[in-house]
Amino acid sequence: MNSAKIFFGSNEATKDEISQRRSPYNKRVVSTAPVCDADDTIKALKIAQKATKATRASTLSQRCNWLLDVANNLALNKEDIAMTITDEVGKPLAFARVEVDRAIETLTLSAETMRTMHGETINTDAMASGKKTMSFFRREPVGVVAAITPFNFPLNLVAHKLGPALVAGNAVVLKPTPEAPLTAYKFAKLFINSRYAIKDALSVVYGDAEVGSALVTSDIPRVVSFTGSVPVGEIITKSAGIKKVGLELGGNAATFIDKSADLDLAANRCALGAFINSGQVCISLQRIYVDADIYDEFAQKMAEETKKLKVGSPYDEETFMGPLIDDDACERAMSWVQSAIDEGARALLEPKVEDRTFYPCVMADVRDDMAIVCEEVFAPIVSLVKVNGFDDALPRMNNSPYGLQFSVFTNDLSLTNRAIDELDAGGVVINDMPTLRFDIQPYGGVKLSGVGREGPKFAIEEMTEIKSVIICR
Ligand code: NAD
Repeated sequence: MNSAKIFFGSNEATKDEISQRRSPYNKRVVSTAPVCDADDTIKALKIAQKATKATRASTLSQRCNWLLDVANNLALNKEDIAMTITDEVGKPLAFARVEVDRAIETLTLSAETMRTMHGETINTDAMASGKKTMSFFRREPVGVVAAITPFNFPLNLVAHKLGPALVAGNAVVLKPTPEAPLTAYKFAKLFINSRYAIKDALSVVYGDAEVGSALVTSDIPRVVSFTGSVPVGEIITKSAGIKKVGLELGGNAATFIDKSADLDLAANRCALGAFINSGQVCISLQRIYVDADIYDEFAQKMAEETKKLKVGSPYDEETFMGPLIDDDACERAMSWVQSAIDEGARALLEPKVEDRTFYPCVMADVRDDMAIVCEEVFAPIVSLVKVNGFDDALPRMNNSPYGLQFSVFTNDLSLTNRAIDELDAGGVVINDMPTLRFDIQPYGGVKLSGVGREGPKFAIEEMTEIKSVIICR
């Protein structure tokens, strides 16, 4: 079995205390990691701070080559890394491979984007007092970026932080999810062993709240880039002090099915959006508002599409849904389903959990105040709500503390325009699931779903400072 190691900059280290990671599927020990503390975190931050001299002095050409080299090596190690993701978080192997492909694209995009990002000249002589001056601005690295990542995409969400931060000329201290230390270690090793690597520009420490809190509260990082839950995001907001904080938090994605929609397409894509990664996606489809005229037909199609999804071992090539991340997640999800049923909701497919494998659950006759509707479920549960057109659906979709992504299935152009204008979210998708994300896009939420945007171009903007220059002649 492989063990993750700390990267204090480019040097590997371990500790006497080691934690074991067990597969969520069969509870086998699949990896180990050193247990880091606040002192380790400060040590890593100081190494990163020192490395900023080299990162600032490096050329963009070297940094682009660095990312492209890692992308290339990810492709060469695709099977091993995909298997590590499957081992550590139970993601079905086919989807773990997709995640590796996405991380390759995220790194490639980060390099391509930074190559063409540039400042601008400013017409200071447009100002009355600006005669005989010229001005421009350019982007400079912030220095040290602290990156904290969640379990559900343990590779690609790390790529969304390391790619932009490093190519922009920063040093990074990464604290990956405790659920997938080996995935992060193998990824980081590709960076550190690259022939284009900048010495000590990347450190990796392992742990949970103690390590995360030491990263966030230190004065060394100038940017904290966090992806995870709302409660942890709130702690970070309150404790980070004066520095930039990017927060990619939870969601409660919804869609509206208009009577003009292609119902076969909608049911097929909604089943995918609700159940991919067992509902453990920040933009998992959780609420489906269906026009009353087509409600029964859509509900039947949705149940049929859901029955086709293969649930089982994440190691089986055909499996669509593997286990949830842990027992707590299963117990919470099942208790919410049970209390909804106790209060009058109806399960279209029998709710079932075996070990940590939670079968896809389609609920009808729900109320807006039931936990399965108004909380982030992060499990394979989707609710169907009968509505009288978009005017009825819209306030109910928007009536959520979250606002990450929404969608509408329609063939009506004026409804499309209204959805784009009136849905209160960071993203709106027309004629597909709200679970659609292209890594090139700006991605992030409003309200409790977060602050700032990811996607290489937008993350680079967050991880750089604008320097304004005035030259007087
Ligand atoms: P989590 O908030 O429990 O953990 C995320 C990270 O924060 C982990 O690395 C964890 O160790 C660390 N952490 C815990 N306590 C901390 C503290 N006090 N200070 C600093 N860091 C701390 O989230 P999770 O369970 O791993 O992931 C699921 C959540 O992430 C869901 O809410 C999901 O919606 C959200 N998420 C959001 C996006 C997005 O892009 N908006 C993407 C993926 C997941």
